[in-house]
Amino acid sequence: MASSISVILYLVSAICFIMALRGLSSPDSARQGNMFGMAGMLIAILTTIFSHSISSYILIIGGIAVGGGIGAIIAKRLQMTSLPQLMAAFHSLVGMAAVCVAAAAYYAPQVYGIAEIGHIHASSLIEMSLGSAIGAITFTGSIIAFGKLQGLLSSNPLIFSGQHKLNALLGLSLLGLIILFTILPNSFVFWAIALVGFALGLLLIMPIGGADMPVVVSMLNSYSGWAACGIGFTLTNNLLIITGALVGSSGAILSYIMCKGMNRSILNVLLGGFGGDSGGSTQAAGSNADKPVKSGSAEDAAFILKNAGSVIIVPGYGMAVAQAQHTLREMGDMLKKEGIKVRYAIHPVAGRMPGHMNVLLAEANVPYDDVLELDEINRDFASSDVAFVIGANDVTNPAAKTDPKSPIYGMPILDVDRAKTVLFVKRSMASGYAGVENELFFRPNTMMLFGDAKKMCEHIIQSLDH
Ligand code: NDP
Repeated sequence: MASSISVILYLVSAICFIMALRGLSSPDSARQGNMFGMAGMLIAILTTIFSHSISSYILIIGGIAVGGGIGAIIAKRLQMTSLPQLMAAFHSLVGMAAVCVAAAAYYAPQVYGIAEIGHIHASSLIEMSLGSAIGAITFTGSIIAFGKLQGLLSSNPLIFSGQHKLNALLGLSLLGLIILFTILPNSFVFWAIALVGFALGLLLIMPIGGADMPVVVSMLNSYSGWAACGIGFTLTNNLLIITGALVGSSGAILSYIMCKGMNRSILNVLLGGFGGDSGGSTQAAGSNADKPVKSGSAEDAAFILKNAGSVIIVPGYGMAVAQAQHTLREMGDMLKKEGIKVRYAIHPVAGRMPGHMNVLLAEANVPYDDVLELDEINRDFASSDVAFVIGANDVTNPAAKTDPKSPIYGMPILDVDRAKTVLFVKRSMASGYAGVENELFFRPNTMMLFGDAKKMCEHIIQSLDH
């Protein structure tokens, strides 16, 4: 009886998670989606605690208190701009958990009910070796992603000759070890699987350059889901299997969408090292050094904006850093009151995580109808008076179209240079995350507005007021 109630409750919880994903697919239902996710997780935890023969409540409650406490502190202190690296760090924990659970199941199979007289079922051996392999890849891969996103490691691709061959060799060895472990299970092979997985995780993510990190984040998200799914099989926990599969498949779909957004092949992503042999021209520094740069003040910008008929605002990572979204919305509203058509253009990889700009603009109550994706708005730059680029850089860089050696080559960009005037709000001439100089800064129809994004918007608002 108790077990059928827990099955039903797990099903309710799984439905909540599906509703959560559905809600998160659109900014206006995202809050509701989060509520469903939280409810699903609460039901899952309570059902697990009350429906199983628990040997130590102290350990469980202690674990929840310590883990939940650390999570709450991090969530409170965290800057929005650090969310991607936090996600990468959390993915690494899921990966490590998969390895630990697989090890526990291997050394104490009777506790998990997967062995008869010391003999572990073949299906369980496959599950635990797969869970351990994917978990190990996720663990080290996520650590490298964390290092790159946090700026602890260079965002440039780390490439050496024979890399793909080595990866292929490791991949085949991993497959061979998994088959060997299923036939002849022993501790040596078990740990060899984990070690090869750790090495493969490092080697898959190291060669990926800064501009391609968005795909990596969503890909590791997918890997962590499949690792959790593997744990679910080992623990014979249906909810974990469903949840892991949901995260794994939604992460895979997101990776596919990001690949399309970046114009990359999904196969290259899965094999690692895409963005490939681009080590060459990450920085064309100096090439434009002699060219003049036109810079202006907030008053100049206010004058240009006031006299425009239509303005397209292009937000990027710098807007997130400066937390300028509210002031930006205020500025946009003022322009609208003057009868100017104001819209916001979102590049799929603007910021540092998928949907970053959408979240910030939604937080600032920018109407959803004013926010348009790259495909929807790109043609309109040609008929716009002003492209107001605020803290964005790589997503506007024409090198993506013109320089085959550039690490961002092939990525679709927002064609801001087609507008009559381009205003760039940023603090300096520095390049963006991909480390590529942006030749738009030197174009005659560009005016640089040097300064912090939020302060610049405040000054423009003051000037518009006069
Ligand atoms: P970029 O990183 O290309 O450029 C951001 C610009 O913001 C910088 O050039 C910087 O210039 C400026 N900036 C920083 N702080 C401020 C501030 N306080 N005020 C004003 N400007 C500021 O950002 P984009 O959004 O254009 O592109 C995103 C990049 O990140 C792409 O390369 C993408 O591939 C990558 N990425 C995206 C992820 C995603 O999921 N969206 C995940 C990981 C990476 P300055 O220092 O001169 O002010």
